[in-house]
Amino acid sequence: MIKKVFNKPLSWLERIFFIDFIKGLSVTIRHAFSRTITTHYPYEKITPPKRFRGFHGHKVVDGTEPQPAFDEWVERFKIEVIPGRSRCVVCQLCKRACPVPELFQIEGQKLPNGKRVVGVFNMNLMLCTFCGFCVDACPVDCLFMSDIHETASYTRKDAVLTLEILEKIGRDWQRRREMEPDRIWIDDEHRQRLWYENDLKLPEVKG
Ligand code: SF4
Ligand code: SF4
Repeated sequence: MIKKVFNKPLSWLERIFFIDFIKGLSVTIRHAFSRTITTHYPYEKITPPKRFRGFHGHKVVDGTEPQPAFDEWVERFKIEVIPGRSRCVVCQLCKRACPVPELFQIEGQKLPNGKRVVGVFNMNLMLCTFCGFCVDACPVDCLFMSDIHETASYTRKDAVLTLEILEKIGRDWQRRREMEPDRIWIDDEHRQRLWYENDLKLPEVKG
């Protein structure tokens, strides 16, 4: 059985003057002359919001670790804390939380003094869905997702983030954005550059 959806007959006025067609066209014309909110990527690039889920990184030990959690986990796993190196305590909670755990390769390394450091930490982002579960699971605020969003590469190997790369992304993030307030836009000017207040009536963003 065919269900009739449009069963309202057109009036003679609508038939003669194509009123629906004119209505549709007026929307097209109105938007053709309004200001654009898209950017000309890759010629024009914007800085994503702080909470953007881009490439992962490892924050390094710099004295801003969450306390007392960091010291407790360091004590529990007998970790050697090295300033400037990854905060990772090799707890594997990120891997456990991940829906695709095989993308992680995490190994601890034993030092002559009996303590441990993270020796291997590889993430194959070809399998990652960028859900962020791993970041939420990290108890020491080590693993995070950065604003690096240009993730295309020429080889599969380039899609694997090693410990060295993760630390490098972490150091860059801590220098560039760590102290920034946790808000969607960096500032009002940043927001207005693309999202004009008059067009979109966005609520006032408070820092
Ligand atoms: S973002 Fe999601 S899929 Fe990617 S590594 Fe983290 S938990 Fe796994
Ligand atoms: S959850 Fe954090 S501390 Fe634990 S292994 Fe993953 S990155 Fe390292």
